[in-house]
Amino acid sequence: MFLKKNKPKGSLEVICGSMFSGKSEELIRRLKRSQIAKQNTLAFKHNLDDRKTIEYVISHSGNKIKAFAVDTVKLILDLTPPEIEVIGIDEVQFFSMDIIPVVLKLVSMGKKVIIAGLDLDFRGIPFGPIPALLAIADKITKLNAICVRCGAEAQHTQRLIDGIPAKFHDPIVLVGAEECYEARCRNCYSIDIHDFIEKYEQKQNSI
Ligand SMILES: [Zn+2]
Repeated sequence: MFLKKNKPKGSLEVICGSMFSGKSEELIRRLKRSQIAKQNTLAFKHNLDDRKTIEYVISHSGNKIKAFAVDTVKLILDLTPPEIEVIGIDEVQFFSMDIIPVVLKLVSMGKKVIIAGLDLDFRGIPFGPIPALLAIADKITKLNAICVRCGAEAQHTQRLIDGIPAKFHDPIVLVGAEECYEARCRNCYSIDIHDFIEKYEQKQNSI
């Protein structure tokens, strides 16, 4: 006797990497391929990301696809009609950990979910829900940018404040300072994480 066949489950694809590694470009490419295959697609992004416009996922090369800008994960479920087969979510690192049950629910409903996000923050620390999303993914793509200093493969996002590498404990929002981000390889990337590790070890030893 055969087991009763349930509705097939969907899948989760994660595209991660540093800034300027082409994550949004790859997300747009996959969503456009789905559209060519006549699948119903829908895209979301976090509305923190006001890079250019809030109604599109836009890559640095200017490629774009229409998207809902949402600030809570619940809206992703609320705004997804039943006929949608493929869902793209950009800048997923900005969402809370609540994104995980939402993604699992969409996958269990048979939808293909493709998400893109920064795997590390400027301090080199895994970003928000990304590590958990990588663990539950069916397929992972880790993209590298090109180091602006030496041309090697870059996996880090360097934060610069007034042209100087930001410190580990610098606040995320700095009023009055000029800051920017650039892609750097492990050798050219600079963060005072050694101070952080040393302090952490001292604290552990004193317990
Ligand atoms: Zn380099």
